[in-house]
Amino acid sequence: MTRSDSGPSNGGPDTPARPPAPCGQCGGAVGPRALFCHACGAVLPPAPLDPFTRLGLERRLDLDPAQIARQYSGFARAFAGDRFADRDEAQRANASAQAAALADALATLTDPARRAHALRVLQGESAAQADAPPIP
Ligand SMILES: [Zn+2]
Repeated sequence: MTRSDSGPSNGGPDTPARPPAPCGQCGGAVGPRALFCHACGAVLPPAPLDPFTRLGLERRLDLDPAQIARQYSGFARAFAGDRFADRDEAQRANASAQAAALADALATLTDPARRAHALRVLQGESAAQADAPPIP
């Protein structure tokens, strides 16, 4: 089998700053915001995301509290109840860690002072990240 690459796949302008970690269950590639592995359905541990990204919201100060709540309940529903009761211990731990991370993002974004602080941290971070070495 021959494969002809029409363009470079590494180092392009679309390369994410944080390469996604592989799935702990099947080793498949997962997106940085994925809650579950699309290949095997495993619950992934929460990625180190800012609260805006975690809840799929724009990074802005004047967020609608109703929209924050709607986004949160949409994500949190995936971890509600006993739906992971038959998974192994690591999966259940990941599910509770995801739920806790979502609740933390909700708490941060619904408090205007904490939301403003999170936004300031992000603005400072993105400037610093430009000089940071790539994560292996
Ligand atoms: Zn997987």
